[in-house]
Parts: sequence; C-alpha cells; structure tokens
Amino acid sequence: MDGMMFVGGQWRKSGGGESFQVKNPASGAVVGSVAKGTREDARSAIDSAREAFRKWSETPPIERSRALLKVAEMVRASVGPLAKSLVLEQGKPLGEAKSEIGSFANTFEYYAGLVGRERGAQTPLSTGEGYFIVTKRPIGVVGAILPWNFPVSLMGWKVAPGLAAGNTFVVKPASTTPLTDLMAAELLAKSGLPAGAVNVVTGPGGVVGQELLDNPGVGKIAFTGETDTGKKIMEGSAKHIKRLTLELGGSDPMIVCDDADLGLAVEGATWGRFRNCGQSCTSVKRLFLFESISEEFTKRLAEKVRSIRVGDGLQSGTHMGPMHTAEQRSKVEDMVEDAEARGAEPLVGGGRPGGPDLARGNFYSPTLLGGVDYDSRIATEECFGPALPVFEVKDLDEALERANDTPYGLGSSVWTSDLERAYSAAERIEAGTTWVNSPPISRAEVPFGGFKQSGFGRELGVEGLDYYYETKSIQVLEYEKGKKWGFPI
Ligand code: NAD
Repeated sequence: MDGMMFVGGQWRKSGGGESFQVKNPASGAVVGSVAKGTREDARSAIDSAREAFRKWSETPPIERSRALLKVAEMVRASVGPLAKSLVLEQGKPLGEAKSEIGSFANTFEYYAGLVGRERGAQTPLSTGEGYFIVTKRPIGVVGAILPWNFPVSLMGWKVAPGLAAGNTFVVKPASTTPLTDLMAAELLAKSGLPAGAVNVVTGPGGVVGQELLDNPGVGKIAFTGETDTGKKIMEGSAKHIKRLTLELGGSDPMIVCDDADLGLAVEGATWGRFRNCGQSCTSVKRLFLFESISEEFTKRLAEKVRSIRVGDGLQSGTHMGPMHTAEQRSKVEDMVEDAEARGAEPLVGGGRPGGPDLARGNFYSPTLLGGVDYDSRIATEECFGPALPVFEVKDLDEALERANDTPYGLGSSVWTSDLERAYSAAERIEAGTTWVNSPPISRAEVPFGGFKQSGFGRELGVEGLDYYYETKSIQVLEYEKGKKWGFPI
C-alpha cells in the first residue's frame, strides 16, 4: 500500500501523482508513505461513496448488522499487525495500541446490536384527524475528519454508527497517522460492505478536508480535532447546511476531596494524565486538591510519576511513549516555561529525558507542576501532553468555581467517598461527562461529547446513532371526500 490511498474498494495512487512519508515519533525513521490526495481524488471518493450509499442504505438491517459483526471479527483477528502499525506511526505503547484496536472492534459490535432495533413513533393528531408516522433515514455520504491521537478508535466512533444507520463514508485521516486507518478500511471492504462504502483519502486538511466541506454531495461532517479547527469546520459546513458533529479540545478538571480514597485517586491521576503521553481529548489536565490532603496526595503522586518509564512504544516495559510530533512537544515546553516564569515549580520532570535511546524521538518527561498561577497558559488553554498542574483549593465551592473557569467542557472527575457530594459536584460541573472515582474512560454504550467550546453533538451510545439520521414525518389523514382546507374560496 506504499504511496496509496483506499477508494472504491481498491488501492489507488493520487491523481496528482504525489505521496508523502509517515515517520515514527520515537525515532524519526520513515515507516511508510501514502498518497497525497487532491481535490479531484476526494471528489472521486465522494462519488464512490454516493454509489455505495444506494446499495448500503437499502441493505436489510439484519445484513447490515452481520456485516458490522464481521468487521469486528476481522479486526480482532488482525489486532497484532494493526496495533504494531499504530505504535509505529503514533508512538503509543503497544498495550495501549491493542486496547485502541479492541475499542474499534467493540464499537462495531455495539452498533451491530442496534441495527434494526431503532423505534420510530406514531403520533396521533390532537384534532383527531389522523396521525403522523415519524421515521428515521440515513443522511447519505459522511465526511469523517480525524485527529492523530486516537486515529483508529475515533474512526470507529464515526464509521460504526454511521454505517449502522445506512450511511457511507469518505474518511480523511490526520496526515501523520494514515497507515492504520488505511489497513482498517481494507478490512472493512473485505468484510462484505459494498465497494466504496468506506473510502480513505489521505492528504492535507486544507485540500481533502476542504473538498469534503465544499462538496454538496457530502451530507454530514463528523469532525474530531482542535477547537480552532472545529470553528473553521463549522463555518465551512454552513455553505450547504451540512449536518455536523464536532468533538473538540478539553481541559478536564480532576477534583480530589478530603474524604477521597487517595490511593485510588493517585492511580486515576496517573493513568488519566499520562496515558497516550497526555495526548487525549478527555484526560486529567488540571488537578484540584483539597488543602487538607494536598501535601500527602502530591507526595504520593510525585513518587508514582517518577516511576513512569519513558521509551519506544514497541519496547516491553515502556509505560509512556514519545509525544506525537516535535511541534506538539514544543507547545508543551512553551506552556511549562510560561508556568515557570509565573512562579511554578516542577515537582517532577519539566524537560526532555536524557539518554542516547531517546535523543532522536519527540520524548518529554512526565511532569508535575506545583505553585501554578491560575493565569498561566497551562491553566487556561488545553495542555496536550504529559504535564499536569496541581492547584490547592479550600473546599468544593472553590474547586467547582475554578474547574468551570474555562472555555472547555469535555470531561471531569470528582473523587470522594460521599455519594451525595459526588452527585452535587457532578451536577455543577460544566462538562459533557463527569466520572466519579474514576479516570476518563469512554464506553461504546454511553454518549460522549462536550459542553461549551468542547464540541457539538454526541458520539457513542444510542444518542450517537441519532446523529447519523434525518427525521422524516409522514402525515396520514383519514380520507374525507370533498374536504375543504379553510381557504375562503
Ligand atoms: P487538528 O484540528 O489539527 O486536525 C484534525 C483533522 O482536521 C486532521 O485530519 C487535519 O488534517 C484536519 N484539518 C485541519 N485543517 C482543516 C481544514 N481547514 N479543513 C478540513 N480539515 C482540516 O487536531 P489534531 O491535532 O489532529 O488533534 C488533537 C486535538 O483533537 C486536541 O485538541 C484534542 O483535544 C482533540 N480531540 C478531541 C476528541 C473528542 O472526542 N472531543 C478526541 C480526540 C482528540
């Protein structure tokens, strides 16, 4: 598949003849190349998806369900090569890559179970003249624009419910992580979906992504990425009033109360911040500790963070891989510098790790910052990397006020042994999800998405399926010969 993309059920070169390389974040080595798609390539993929839509949307639900189960089965059987490819292009440790592939398969299994189980409604008219039948129908071709941090599971979050509802897809992966998405597309084609039901066009966002926005043949855009890019996508979708889901950035607060199980919370903070090298949309990005437990908690967390082994994701024993790109690392370095310039102190880390093995990769040490000023960039912007600012608060009211003082509203967590306190805090946090005594773990069966500038619409769960339908109402009046409608002649 070197230098190719996947369109109409086949491997293809770019019409422009160009390709681009994909590099390993742990070493800078080239791990593959893919086609540099043009607008014309994207148009051709949209045509393929439109053609496939005719067949797929009329495929009986039971067969659609079986095809989705087959996808899950084939993906599970190929977890080894898929996970290895994901580590090589994205950088995450192999165990995390395997669980990401598993989550892709799980999303297909979940939506396979929902195909044909949707229920419409019959609404009697209040005047007694008859009734409306309310039905759901697929939108058509969906443009799925993906980020690099979870390239495979986030493809599944879109493609699985979208296919379940009868739509077809043109997927635009992030330019630094196209390889595993292409492998997944080939498996989808082999599992019995019509050719062209899921196309993957690789290439720049401003070209391939722009065509998905501009082309009237695309009915919906499902986007995951940065909030600023999301704003452009929203503007671009306005021209044809495209349906839209936006899964954007976050700055999740984690609040640890004085009655929390500290051991559990230390584990949660470590997993919640340093998984995927801190590059998760929903992850612990600001830690608020009640004063009375702050010292003890920080000491235990620092000990844990110091023991994180940084290395190549394919090496056994690696807990945390490199950052995805040198540019992402610079952004985190700038934020840590800014915090330090305003008085923060690194309690752990705060720079690049040493050693010849790590010199060529985009590595950054797991970092814990104390004494952080609330005006620091790390407190006010999304920190997409392995650095965690710690703040002390006197009580829950202060914690909630601080937690909500952000334009983001994706995830959040509260740690306490008092269920009433947990519930009241969860009700007051302005975020799409609040985990109680747990780090952020998304589930196929639970709707996920953001409040405020973290997004628009929901993915996953039954609600996620709804975002791939149009609602159609059909009026059925009782027949009355010679009926007049009220116009005065
Ligand atoms: P990004 O916004 O830079 O890129 C996302 C995708 O958009 C890429 O495929 C890119 O090529 C494409 N793109 C860029 N400009 C475009 C344009 N003008 N028109 C069309 N497409 C364009 O995001 P990223 O750096 O890949 O991902 C990291 C971000 O994603 C973080 O902010 C993270 O929080 C967010 N994220 C959110 C969720 C969620 O579910 N809310 C999940 C994962 C990541």
